[in-house]
Amino acid sequence: MTSAQNSLEETVLQAIQGVVGFGCKEKPISLHEPDFNGTKAWEYIRDCLDSGWVSTAGRWVNRFEQELCTVTGAEHAVVVSNGTVALRLALHLVGVGPGDEVLLPPLSFVATANAVAHLGAVPHFVDIEPNALGMCPAALDARLDAIAIRHEGHVVNKESGRRIAAVLPVHVFGHPAEVSQLRAVCDAWGVPMVEDAAEALASWREGTHCGLFGAVGTLSFNGNKLITTGGGGALLTNNSGIAKRARHLSTTAKLPHPWAFDHDAVGWNDRLPNLNAALGVAQLEDLERRLEAKGQLVQQYKRAFASIEGIELVAEPEGCQSNHWLMSLRFTAENQSVAEAQRLKLLQDAHEAGVLVRPVWTALNKLPMYVDSPAGSLTVATDQAPRLINLPSSPQLLKEWHS
Ligand SMILES: *Cc1c(COP(=O)(O)O)cnc(C)c1O
Repeated sequence: MTSAQNSLEETVLQAIQGVVGFGCKEKPISLHEPDFNGTKAWEYIRDCLDSGWVSTAGRWVNRFEQELCTVTGAEHAVVVSNGTVALRLALHLVGVGPGDEVLLPPLSFVATANAVAHLGAVPHFVDIEPNALGMCPAALDARLDAIAIRHEGHVVNKESGRRIAAVLPVHVFGHPAEVSQLRAVCDAWGVPMVEDAAEALASWREGTHCGLFGAVGTLSFNGNKLITTGGGGALLTNNSGIAKRARHLSTTAKLPHPWAFDHDAVGWNDRLPNLNAALGVAQLEDLERRLEAKGQLVQQYKRAFASIEGIELVAEPEGCQSNHWLMSLRFTAENQSVAEAQRLKLLQDAHEAGVLVRPVWTALNKLPMYVDSPAGSLTVATDQAPRLINLPSSPQLLKEWHS
């Protein structure tokens, strides 16, 4: 390469700017930002304020749940105060408790492991596959074969002596994980599967919405997600027993009665307030437009990167429809430290230019709380994590959005 040519990092930054425009220090371009313009959010919030129904019950809560069912095809949706709480409740409902182990991938947002730890259980990491970055069915199968035994009706990790109580795959960046195959492995062992679909609203595999392949799945409506309620989450399930218990335990396990306060379990106060649900309904009404814009943004990134050697977009898996929540770039240099250095240079250059690209999360098994957690071989996750960078992905970045 002669000095007259751009470096890879400069070329990539220019390609990104060609798609999303030029940020600056004062007004940088973020990864994913909320947007309520063009929605009825103001009208719906006003209805809550006018009626006094601002708290954990009300017509917007019911309507948001119904519309989530319509959009996802789930038989039941139970909305809660955030995605972490949804995961913790879902894991509790399939029987995860203190001293159990839950198998999950190391490449996820920290909440996936935290929800396990909040129940007094231990995360146990299983490797990912390198394309869509979800938990690898072969790695799950191999790990269970290596460490699991059946003992008194349970599946037990013979190395730790702890019960393996659930498998928790994650649909990373909105790309569906290989959940049909993961479910088959879970079924062979009789271990329930819970899906962290926090990033995967409106993502589908083989005609089924993410979160509906296992016993129960969870969504997040945090401010940076595809749609937001400010803060919020949901459980999706086709199991009416799980839905009923989710509703009960998330509302302090109060027994229905006109005046008495009776509770039959240690419940939580986890329900989504009506105010937040009103925002959720307004955002869901805008879902198609947002998905459409993100689809176009992906095509623009694809075109912009097509002729650049040494990078690729993390692609939608075959047979799937991804919501393209966070678009991501992979540095493909064979030597991992070369790729990692290129990523660091792009992070520096882009931040300097006001384009806030971000490295993917630090692998969960590297965090101090989880560094001693049990784990299988994590060679794919260890190789992939330093190569990945998330790109600005908000639908409103599409130039035609405001027209
Ligand atoms: C956002 C997210 C969560 C947590 O959701 P919150 O609403 O922020 O609590 C959990 N898992 C994954 C993979 C996420 O991206």
